[in-house]
Amino acid sequence: MHLVRGEGVWLFDPDGRRYLDCYNNVAVVGHGHPRVTQAVTQQQRLLATHSRYLHEGIVELAERLTATLPPGLDAVLVVNSGSEANDLAWRIARAATGRSGAVVSSYAYHGLTEATHALSPEVWAAQERPAHVARVPAPDGYRGAYRRTEDGWAERYAAHVDSAAAALGDRGLAAMYIDPAFTADGILYPPPGYLREAARRVRALGGLLVADEVQAGHGRSGQHLWSFQASGIEPDMVVLGKPMGNGFPVAALVVRSGLLAAVAEETELFSTFGGNPVACVAALAVLDVIAAEGLVGRAAEVGGYLRQGVLGLAERYPVIGDVRGEGLLLGAELVDPQTRAPASERAHQVTEAMRDRGILISATGPAGNVLKIRPPLVFQPEHADLLVQTLGDVLAQD
Ligand code: PMP
Repeated sequence: MHLVRGEGVWLFDPDGRRYLDCYNNVAVVGHGHPRVTQAVTQQQRLLATHSRYLHEGIVELAERLTATLPPGLDAVLVVNSGSEANDLAWRIARAATGRSGAVVSSYAYHGLTEATHALSPEVWAAQERPAHVARVPAPDGYRGAYRRTEDGWAERYAAHVDSAAAALGDRGLAAMYIDPAFTADGILYPPPGYLREAARRVRALGGLLVADEVQAGHGRSGQHLWSFQASGIEPDMVVLGKPMGNGFPVAALVVRSGLLAAVAEETELFSTFGGNPVACVAALAVLDVIAAEGLVGRAAEVGGYLRQGVLGLAERYPVIGDVRGEGLLLGAELVDPQTRAPASERAHQVTEAMRDRGILISATGPAGNVLKIRPPLVFQPEHADLLVQTLGDVLAQD
């Protein structure tokens, strides 16, 4: 794809052909949103320094973010990428607990730095197995060991935290990282019992829980601003990124200040571009637009409508074995209808055929067979109709 312009839910190539963006969660409030672009350009003209000097934007952003989170999460570090925020969380977790082991889900992704790559089995090389990282099976109620039809299946998955932590041996559990939507694991979105039980077990083991909201945060789940909130847990750290500046690079780690103290005593934490005035106004404008345009509710409404449409397709086309997700983060798992084997090649063909018809989606999961639908939150029912209609046309061509 070569794209030269974006507007709302549309992307345009150099020939002026437009594509319906059903994939990019960076532009969470829509491509080129005027309120965000205006805030960024005005601030760029006025002052673009760094966070060594005081400026209102970073204070306001920290206050606005902490007001949306459980009261214990009272310190905000503004950085430049999700990787950096997760990396910092790892440093804090080790310093605060005095331990050095981590637990992640089987196919998680948390970043590209050396520390976060180790926490990202999705991108490990074939034989790569960092000794300080243990994995729990992702809570896949469709094809995993425990099925959605069984009572307490999600809690049974969460019970694996104990055996994973035991495998860390003397290192001990410093932190478990969770993307509450399990996006890289195939968009699993387990019910609230999973996070509650995982959090309880992590706590009992003396570890910390990091909620990675880079994918599912900023209202995408359609229930709350942050996806972990549906479970009522209080993570020790929350990581925000990707959609946070609607394309302007900005990310954040929100943490209990008591934990931060463990690192601050060792050294100072400073990032040149992290929390610069332009990044902060971008992040504030995104929060403003989400509130002003009611985008959390919109994600629920349009996401529910879209889900019904995709479920309708699943009835007509048994190649869709499962439809999952919340709000405007949906996964449709393509399978061999007889054997349930992952239809990875078909998923690839479908995403290509959709692109040829002017609609951008992708595929995810360990077998790459889960269609990933994750549009900007300004998606409207008419866009959902177009997506479902086109997906139906593509699936009909077999
Ligand atoms: N966590 C999750 C869940 C992600 O999906 C990503 C990016 N795909 C990251 C962290 C890393 O963020 P970044 O690419 O901004 O470093």
